[in-house]
Amino acid sequence: MNTQDINKRIRLIMDLRAKGITDTAVLSAMERVPRDYFVPDAVRDQAWEDMALPIGRGQTISQPLVVASMTQALKLSDRDKVLEIGTGCGYQTAVLSKLCRRVYTIERHKFLLRHAEERYRALKTHNVTAIAGDGMKGWPTMHGVDQAPFDKIIVTAAARDKPPQALLDQLHIGGMMIIPVGESGNQMLKLYTKESDEAYAVRDLMAVRFVPLLPNIASNSEDGHEAA
Ligand code: SAH
Repeated sequence: MNTQDINKRIRLIMDLRAKGITDTAVLSAMERVPRDYFVPDAVRDQAWEDMALPIGRGQTISQPLVVASMTQALKLSDRDKVLEIGTGCGYQTAVLSKLCRRVYTIERHKFLLRHAEERYRALKTHNVTAIAGDGMKGWPTMHGVDQAPFDKIIVTAAARDKPPQALLDQLHIGGMMIIPVGESGNQMLKLYTKESDEAYAVRDLMAVRFVPLLPNIASNSEDGHEAA
């Protein structure tokens, strides 16, 4: 890494601190995960700016402040098993992986998932399990093995009116889920704490702009290899 790169990283971390991120473990994770490695060449110059960027297939990598706010709100411990819906380029997954025991992540675009998996391998991120699927249904039983319930769930695409029930069901009692809810242009980041099988405490965190949660795995035409 050259001095200019180090300076860009430090500037972003200072920017996040100034904007209210106080959890030093989160700031340190974001300083160490190379965001420039997760974005397409065309926008690599802006990788250390506090802005969302396009990652292909009409999807975006979230703004660093939003990644930091969501991660901080989950109060992660190194014992936590975390479910993420919406792998995208895999950046948020990589940040989570530095702060918890294991991340299970689901992406509906196989094309994006394949590239995210290559990045985990190259960065020696070994505590991530990634699959293509519809995350609204939660983590599937695989070979007779259930991973649910999870200590924390993070959804990085917006539910239209309420969180999918399958996700609330896969949360431990006492666990937390963070999810943007609302139509485009009117979304709120919400933090759910599961108090019992039926009761949840809900807190609004900030207004956000996410791509929508969509059902099913992306079709071949949607996930084709033409330019995004
Ligand atoms: N956390 C990502 C942000 C990705 S944008 C990052 O750091 O880059 C949201 C992602 O959610 C998109 O890649 C989109 O394809 C995916 N998505 C939308 N609906 C989904 C669903 N039902 N299941 C899994 N992934 C979904």
